[in-house]
Amino acid sequence: MPEQPPTAPTAAVVAGVAVDTRHWIGGERVPSAQTFTDVSPIDGRTLAEVARGGTDEADAAVAAAREAFPAWAATPRTERARILHAIADGVEKRVEDLAIVETHDNGALLRSHRRGVMPRVAHNFRFFADWLLKLEHEDFDTRGHTNHVSWDPAGPCVLITPWNAPLMLATWKVAPALAAGNTVVLKPAEWSPLTASLLADIAAEAGLPAGVLNVVQGYGAEAGNALVSHPDVRRISFTGSVPTARHIAAAAAANLTPVSLELGGKSPLLVFADADLDLAVDLAVEQYDNAGQVCLAATRILVEASVAEEFTRRFTRRAAALTQGDPRADGTDIGPNIHPRQLEKIHGFVERALGAGAQAVVGGGPDTELGGLYYRPTLLTGVEQDWEIVQEEVFGPVLTLQTFDTEDEAVALANGTRFGLAATLATGDSERAERVRARLVAGTVWVNCFFVRDLRAPFGGSRHSGIGREGGTWSFDFYCDVKNAVTAPKGWRDHG
Ligand code: NAD
Repeated sequence: MPEQPPTAPTAAVVAGVAVDTRHWIGGERVPSAQTFTDVSPIDGRTLAEVARGGTDEADAAVAAAREAFPAWAATPRTERARILHAIADGVEKRVEDLAIVETHDNGALLRSHRRGVMPRVAHNFRFFADWLLKLEHEDFDTRGHTNHVSWDPAGPCVLITPWNAPLMLATWKVAPALAAGNTVVLKPAEWSPLTASLLADIAAEAGLPAGVLNVVQGYGAEAGNALVSHPDVRRISFTGSVPTARHIAAAAAANLTPVSLELGGKSPLLVFADADLDLAVDLAVEQYDNAGQVCLAATRILVEASVAEEFTRRFTRRAAALTQGDPRADGTDIGPNIHPRQLEKIHGFVERALGAGAQAVVGGGPDTELGGLYYRPTLLTGVEQDWEIVQEEVFGPVLTLQTFDTEDEAVALANGTRFGLAATLATGDSERAERVRARLVAGTVWVNCFFVRDLRAPFGGSRHSGIGREGGTWSFDFYCDVKNAVTAPKGWRDHG
């Protein structure tokens, strides 16, 4: 265990909720000599000084996960499932604390955290606990020999997660990894580190044995890099950006550690002339959720030319009615962006697009009255398919609008980036929906809806949007060493 310097800050109080800001390793709180400052995007206020881990902490956490692995892997499935349900109970009891801390930490809407996100965090644990108990493969016969497939736990897993939906995305990984019988080291994003620490408390109270879940705080290049380079790690699951994924894949390659990558997107929303136009406008406006910081966001609106003018008119009216402001207020639709660097990045994309000849029909810059990190919801028209603004992920409330005349053209535009995370179709013609969805390169296609996710379904991206799928049995396939045991029939040698 790394030495514990007595002077490092160890806790913070965020909106009345106490959060331990040290690492959680082997069932103990562990500080680091160095800390980093966690700032709220709502008002730039310092929330906490958080332990800044490096190689020592990564080594200690992987060692703890290794030590805890054999006992957890041997724990009966029913007992593992019971503990995961107890964690879900703990999350449900602390929904309010988790919601308020996460909103202060990453600026997403408090009402969404309360009503949607945190209850779903609990559901993530319940779902994978229950799926574990149902996870059976039918035995089958080969010339009298029985094939028996089992999902054996793989070992210590490193889970690296982003800031845009911190606890939700972390628990999509933590829950199946633990259910499968693995031990875990979670490294949350440095821009939103706090709820991962509360999760460690909840898991310990639920009776999860020491070392089964470890949380190492710190920067990606330090703690993150040390974890993904560790030779004792059996799985790496990463959600984040493409450049980071390249580093992680390279580090993992040195040890041949299997990697799951959930990356960015530049997803299209295809609006055909036969669509319910008000529904299409609703779907388009929904893309501003979480201030546009959603990997799945359909940021490229592709509209059939004959309805483009009417669509734009209705969209502009709807966008003007959105309320931007403090994410803690019930009436707010769009909160702040995460960090000054992110705001700068978003504005850089918009300025370059405007410089190239795009028009900002809606928004086009930060909200100077609100100050801080609020970027106005923006719609850019007059853009070309090969422009940066159409090809690259902005990760802010910035949408582009292009038009098409034919279904073929729509599909070509939709598939015309290096990403393939998701696509949304608005059409009143079910045959068209079937035709088009079959031709789209995307891990998820929504028809006349958006963001509906069932944990039984596979989730992930094609092309540069990722490698692998999460959800249901796909998660267990990744987190397990799947084994086939072939058993000969009794006395088979007698029959020659
Ligand atoms: P990021 O890649 O900058 O960081 C993600 C995590 O990786 C953080 O915890 C960071 O500390 C860590 N990290 C950074 N460098 C590392 C390294 N060298 N080794 C190990 N870890 C390292 O991404 P972000 O800015 O936090 O998140 C935004 C991105 O995530 C967007 O591209 C978005 O589309 C994507 N995302 C994808 C999904 C999905 O499911 N496909 C979901 C949410 C976000």
